[in-house]
Amino acid sequence: MPPVATGGPRTLLRRLREIMAEQTSAQMRLDKLVTVIAANMVAEVCSIYLRRAGKALELFATEGLNPAAVHRTRMKAGEGLVGLVAETGEPVNLSDAPSHPHFSYRPETGEDPYHSFLGVPIVRGGQVFGVLTVQNRASRQYAEEEVEALQTVAMVLAEVVAQGGLFNVAELDEPDLSPERPRKFRGEGLSEGVAVGHVFLHEPRVLVERMIADNPQEELIRLETAIGALRDSVDQMLDSSELDLTGESREVIETYRLFAHDQGWRQRMRDAVRTGLTAEAAVERVQDEMRLRVSRLNDPVLRERAHDLDDLARRLLRHLSGDGNKAANMPKDSVLLARAMGPAELLDYRRDHLHALVLEEAATTSHVAIVARAMGLPLVSGVDEITDAARAGDLVAIDGESGEVHLRPAEEIVAAFEAKRTLRAHRVAQYAEVRDLPAVTRDGVHIRLMMNAGLLLDVPHLHESGADGIGLFRTELQFMIGETMPRLSDQIEFYSQIIDAAGDKPVVFRTLDLGGDKVLPYARWEREENPALGWRAIRIALDRPALLRYQVRALLTASAGKVLRILLPMVSDVSEFNQARALVDRETERMRLLVLPQPRQVLVGAMLEVPALAFMLPQIMRSADFVSIGSNDLLSLAFAVDRTNPRVARRYDMLHPAALTLIRQIVRSATEAGGEVSLCGEMAGRPLDAMALVGLGLRTLSMSPGNIGPVKMMIRSLNYGEVSQFVERLCGRADHSLRSRLAAFAAERGVVLK
Ligand code: PEP
Ligand code: MG
Repeated sequence: MPPVATGGPRTLLRRLREIMAEQTSAQMRLDKLVTVIAANMVAEVCSIYLRRAGKALELFATEGLNPAAVHRTRMKAGEGLVGLVAETGEPVNLSDAPSHPHFSYRPETGEDPYHSFLGVPIVRGGQVFGVLTVQNRASRQYAEEEVEALQTVAMVLAEVVAQGGLFNVAELDEPDLSPERPRKFRGEGLSEGVAVGHVFLHEPRVLVERMIADNPQEELIRLETAIGALRDSVDQMLDSSELDLTGESREVIETYRLFAHDQGWRQRMRDAVRTGLTAEAAVERVQDEMRLRVSRLNDPVLRERAHDLDDLARRLLRHLSGDGNKAANMPKDSVLLARAMGPAELLDYRRDHLHALVLEEAATTSHVAIVARAMGLPLVSGVDEITDAARAGDLVAIDGESGEVHLRPAEEIVAAFEAKRTLRAHRVAQYAEVRDLPAVTRDGVHIRLMMNAGLLLDVPHLHESGADGIGLFRTELQFMIGETMPRLSDQIEFYSQIIDAAGDKPVVFRTLDLGGDKVLPYARWEREENPALGWRAIRIALDRPALLRYQVRALLTASAGKVLRILLPMVSDVSEFNQARALVDRETERMRLLVLPQPRQVLVGAMLEVPALAFMLPQIMRSADFVSIGSNDLLSLAFAVDRTNPRVARRYDMLHPAALTLIRQIVRSATEAGGEVSLCGEMAGRPLDAMALVGLGLRTLSMSPGNIGPVKMMIRSLNYGEVSQFVERLCGRADHSLRSRLAAFAAERGVVLK
């Protein structure tokens, strides 16, 4: 008869909690832990192996094996059954371990008499960082419930170690397992600024105290209620979407629904709760296991599905915590950390409590980066694994220019960052001094500096920065942050506020630029293979004219008595522009017939973002009142590089000779055709890039408001005649980037680049 476990997993978890609360050394707690687990599972041996730097798994505590082997036995990656568990991330359950090909005999442990072996991985955040084993002398197969129970214990153990509940740096000289230790990361600075603050996790992990259930029955009910609420919300997404953008495939949300109703998923979470976990911990455990399995499969389709499931699990956690108000509870000096984030999610947080943002994934021109810059929020992206390394409340210092991030920094680092901040404040004061001075080169060429905006909170920057107007108002942001589609009256109200706040300064409203990386949370969207080349911007507007018509109607109404400037995004063909312009004309005519107050003048421009349009300037200039170069998309398309994919977004430099030659060609043709041309991509806001653009003949640049000061100082120290000659010569070169040559030119001529 196989031995029967006494007490069951819940008793075990309760004991685990008691041991954790004891005020003894980490080693003593670990020793107790293995004794208790062995007794509870009626095993003769219980051991904990933890991963050391360099991947070796070290025996940290044991009941039953030779105690002298603790901290001496180390298994290399993949070595022995313990290595097998770590490598596969799966439990290994054997009735005759010594006969298994992976069995590796370690004489110092004295484990030869044990036949049965059960090992489970200690997993956190989809990574294995230890193995928990039990062994018995007699040959037996451990029951499914025993495997489950051991996995639950391993999960709690993972969290305890990661959150510093067992070790502290003083006790254990082990970098990988010392959660208190300072860590330095380097990512990519996407929005300038220096900040020191405390970590606030966008997707917080369940704390150890909240992992073990007091009342499992209650937890089951909580889980069921949350699953029910999740299903309802997904069903609602499908049924009550106000906007049917495709009317065809509902694949994405259908998949969500499929997952949300998946009985296997629900059952796995229920099982996890039955082992004694809280509902939150159960969701995490099932998710962790799934993530680990998928990451080992190397199947892109499955990975995509895993993202969906991750997203769903996060939603479920939000239902469990009733977390609608999370953003409101954020402490005052928070630095927000997330794996990835959409612009709408960022805007959920209170700007006045937010000091900076750190993301594991985001590209320079991604929408969340643009919004962060608009909010004047320092942002560093591409910081791998920081959300796993950080704990809520940790001190963190970031530099949004260099991309440096210090987690739990030493005092000297904090002091250095404070000094940087003071220096920046000094620079900002210098910009304030030039605010009311004109942007004129030393040889008298006037450049119009406009700002980019998209939210009401951007508009005060118009006056603070001294911008000449809003050169690009991204109207889609307002659509992206809401829960539902804004009604006509909401849109009129919103545009009126912007126009009033701008006063005499011009505002260029770009019509909805949806698709690509900009999707509406409440709209049905057909998943596309290549969204950047897909159904987006003006293409949607022409296929669904009601959207554009209402927006134009709102803009016309809000601009009564003023000049309205409309900009159409992603125009690739003249006839496309003409169709949209005809729609604007029809709306104007409608207002005239209804004798409604109208704008004094309506100007309609085209964004030049599709390379094909660069060859049609004489023609488009006959229809359009102005052209604005969207260099983010234009160069991304010209170089065939996905601007939202951090793996490739940096492969080309905006200061490549081809980029400058293309822009030069556009400026020339537009000017020859007697048209007005400006540039509103991110490069306009970088002083060195802007210097090249001025050299290419651009007279209007539109950028984030924070960049107006630095660009103006650059212009006021520049000689146009010299830079235009220099840039002209550079266009003929074969360099990968002209950045260093331009920088050398600036240094030689005393051009201010700060
Ligand atoms: C651009 O493409 O350069 C641009 C300004 O538009 P967005 O970044 O909003 O796509
Ligand atoms: Mg664009």
